Amino acid sequence: MKNVDVAVVGAGFGGLTAGALAAKSGAKVSLFEQHTRPGGCAGDFALEGFWFPAGATVVTGLEPGGILRQVFDKLRIDVPSRPLDPSITFHIPGHAPLPYVANVAEWKHLLRGALPGAQRYDRFWDWTHDVGGEVYRIGGHLPSLPLQRWADLRRTARATAPSMTRLIRWLGATVEDAKRHSGAEGSPAIDAMIDSLLMDATGAKAGDCSAIQGAIALDLYRRGCQWVEGGTGRLAMMLARSIRDSGGELRFGTGVRALTRTNGRWQITLADGEEVAARTVVANVPPAGLDRLLGRRIRPTSDRESWSAFVLHLGIDATNLPSISPFHQIVPSDGRPSSLVSVFESRKVGASRWSISVSTHVRAADWLGFPRQLVCQRGKTENVLIRNVEEVIPDVRDRTIVQRSATPQTFERFTSRPGGFVGGLIQRPNLVALRARGHRPEPALFLAGDHVFPGQGTVGTALSGINAYRDAVEALGGRPLL
Ligand SMILES: Cc1cc2nc3c(=O)[nH]c(=O)nc-3n(C[C@H](O)[C@H](O)[C@H](O)COP(=O)(O)OP(=O)(O)OC[C@H]3O[C@@H](n4cnc5c(N)ncnc54)[C@H](O)[C@@H]3O)c2cc1C
Repeated sequence: MKNVDVAVVGAGFGGLTAGALAAKSGAKVSLFEQHTRPGGCAGDFALEGFWFPAGATVVTGLEPGGILRQVFDKLRIDVPSRPLDPSITFHIPGHAPLPYVANVAEWKHLLRGALPGAQRYDRFWDWTHDVGGEVYRIGGHLPSLPLQRWADLRRTARATAPSMTRLIRWLGATVEDAKRHSGAEGSPAIDAMIDSLLMDATGAKAGDCSAIQGAIALDLYRRGCQWVEGGTGRLAMMLARSIRDSGGELRFGTGVRALTRTNGRWQITLADGEEVAARTVVANVPPAGLDRLLGRRIRPTSDRESWSAFVLHLGIDATNLPSISPFHQIVPSDGRPSSLVSVFESRKVGASRWSISVSTHVRAADWLGFPRQLVCQRGKTENVLIRNVEEVIPDVRDRTIVQRSATPQTFERFTSRPGGFVGGLIQRPNLVALRARGHRPEPALFLAGDHVFPGQGTVGTALSGINAYRDAVEALGGRPLL
């Protein structure tokens, strides 16, 4: 039986980060991924000559000092990227498109010129910058929460500073509390805009969203949004290559069927029956996925904990279209869901084919049943999302060459996440920081992914991967690089 130091189950951002850092530290690493490509929800795929992101499109954390930048620097990988300012353009019916610019004073000025009553929100934007900045500073020190072991205390202590006391009062609060505190009210359009951005980054609207997570979510788009050609899928590929370059083993198309603990080691049973022994395991799966691997009764994720997603992919003929910015947040007022429209112009010079992906939150429970029964529901949802794209490219229907969509069932199939719950844990006050889920369910088995601290997005997932990596290397008697 093959023996490794670290077996990684899954090549999502959490597993890739942990695996790449462990291999760079000299550990013998094997990564098993059931799919044929790396990245999971942040991966990509090709369809009829078009390239599409599977889920994640917006890249944050690559700015100097950012979490992803720290990972790539340690791996000595140079990622070609550039700051994206504005990061996102808001489309609110009846108003001109509104760019979310990095400079807070400029943003407040733009908003005042665009929407009546915007001045009442000035103090709220200052609050997002202030509190978000503090959370950002703490994140940059790579904390490990909740505090369960001495190692967590040691790693998290580096982030402490007197300025942290400013956060204490917001620990149990929601963004709505912060809005009320700063007198931000009276503009349904601005409220809807804030909610749409919060939903994208935290899965919760202002009334439900943790103030701490909300502040960093709203602020991060201005602080650390970067453009990377090829998006998160390219970053995933770079992490995967790094594992191989450091002497690790990558096995795609190789699902893990079971994990068993025998004689102080983990035994990994692969889908074809092969067995591998490992001193430590990093499992890049949600709790329900871990139950399945450990042969336990599955405790399903609930709709209160997480959303699923519906993503529409369009390949279009972009002849004579002027170049546009990549990210557009559509904030309709007629009951249509808000959604993020991501536009990727062709990478080939002279080519006039663009890929567009539109994502929105859906309840996994609304998409159960046989795919054939859901045809009508899928068609209706695609149509609503195309209307959202029309806010950006009015004649998009006439230009469409390829049209496909992904439902919760698609995500379940391609990422193996039971129930198709994606996008991480909804960031309510009861879930953040000190009260986050731990990542050490069994001896020498560490969880990485968007279901453990800090719980959302590729950057957060990378931090979960760093913590799983640190634990694995320390369990092997080594010293982590980060
Ligand atoms: C529609 C959508 C849009 C998003 N937009 C953004 C965005 O713009 N910016 C951003 O930062 N984040 C975004 N996110 C969130 C982000 O993509 C995820 O939070 C993050 O990628 C999750 O990574 P993960 O490590 O938890 O694992 P996953 O992405 O779930 O990957 C897990 C991997 O493990 C594999 N696997 C599972 N079980 C097994 C097994 N038994 N054996 C072998 N392999 C297995 C799966 O195939 C998969 O590749 C978005 C998510 C979605 C769904």
